[in-house]
Amino acid sequence: MTDFARNAVRGNVAETVGLIDVETFCAKHHPKVHCVRPNISGGWSNLIAEMIGKVSARMQQDDVPAEALLVIGDIKELVPGGGLAIVVQEIQNMDPKAQSAVMRDVFDIVESTCDRAETVCSCCGSEGNEYDDGDRAYIFCDEHAQEILGLAPAPGR
Ligand SMILES: [Zn+2]
Repeated sequence: MTDFARNAVRGNVAETVGLIDVETFCAKHHPKVHCVRPNISGGWSNLIAEMIGKVSARMQQDDVPAEALLVIGDIKELVPGGGLAIVVQEIQNMDPKAQSAVMRDVFDIVESTCDRAETVCSCCGSEGNEYDDGDRAYIFCDEHAQEILGLAPAPGR
């Protein structure tokens, strides 16, 4: 885990729900990735940092021009569905005809990150499950489901 991710997770444990500074993380460590509107709970910091690291590495392969920039539009919690949504916006400064292989790899990385988020508490990063308070769903560990929603662990566990 990077210091950035560790701090984001740690900061979030105290506040329960917070934002991580994805923009600074990209600007500092992954300049070929730009995230426009990152807005997620801190428990997913690790997953997001890992995802950005992977797409950033992909953007540095030989088939991508040096000036190309991957723009990720939204990183957000799905409401009311729960879970994580990552919107890949575009690759700038690259011939659109040459992008399909890169985009396919980027989508694979993004998809697997969103899949994994479904079992990671959005507050603390522990193992989580989907909880529904009647209005919307959340991915929480048992502890945060109880603390935030007042819900008992899901039946059968
Ligand atoms: Zn939790």
